[in-house]
Amino acid sequence: MATQKFITKVDLRSKESMLAYLKSHFRYNTMNSWNGSTSYAHNVKLNRFVPHELMNDAYELLSADSAQYHNEIEDVFTDFAFEHNYCYQIGFNGRSAGYLVLYRGERKRFEHKSICRSCGQRNFKKVHEAAPDDTPKGVIEREVFMNSGCWITATYLDQPAVFALSISDEEKTAFINEAKINAKGSTLGNHCGACGRDTRFNAELYETITYPGQSLGDQDFDDLTLYEIREEVKLVQSFDEAVQQCAEIFLNACQSCVVEEETYMIPQTRRVARCAYAA
Ligand SMILES: [Zn+2]
Repeated sequence: MATQKFITKVDLRSKESMLAYLKSHFRYNTMNSWNGSTSYAHNVKLNRFVPHELMNDAYELLSADSAQYHNEIEDVFTDFAFEHNYCYQIGFNGRSAGYLVLYRGERKRFEHKSICRSCGQRNFKKVHEAAPDDTPKGVIEREVFMNSGCWITATYLDQPAVFALSISDEEKTAFINEAKINAKGSTLGNHCGACGRDTRFNAELYETITYPGQSLGDQDFDDLTLYEIREEVKLVQSFDEAVQQCAEIFLNACQSCVVEEETYMIPQTRRVARCAYAA
């Protein structure tokens, strides 16, 4: 629908064509003007790409607190970061977020091994699913996890609850040894210490980091090989395409959404003293 305002055709066989594209690409601050770092960017203010006849709808849409297109644009950013292994990310910058900027970044793995579904609390230990309390394995697991499996096997065998079990010492020993291994990096059950609910689960957890202080594309291109120049061009072109996608999502929303006011109630809790005597 939108004309391809953010996309430039580049001859990837021609060094001159590629350098001209990179050197003339619009740039903007990655943080603020006094920080001095800049990167490839696009001016996405409304007057830059919204046709005159949609301008009123566009301003209306910008005034909405909640709109589906926010998520769709967020998806474009997420997909872009994923495709570039999080080394490159897109973000808004500028007063009133009038610019889309290409950022450096990375993705780091958390040391945490589990997270709570209810409150988001992360935990360095895994969740070990407990065997039922009324089975010999369950009884032994509880005994072993209680002190993180620090005791020697014989000490566990002497514990009254373990001693009372009607299975052989060999079987008990096997359960004890297994539990000692599990107790090292895990907690018994999925209880969350923060919110008290049983909603922790094992997960590989990552965080996405953006480096807004780092410049991009300000190196001396004459020092680069043709291959490196071409890789840089492909990266910036994929950025252009993502920005174009965002513009189209927004224009599509201008045509298909109506902004309405709605009143909504926020449930609140308060503590009230009820007194026995009459007021
Ligand atoms: Zn929790």
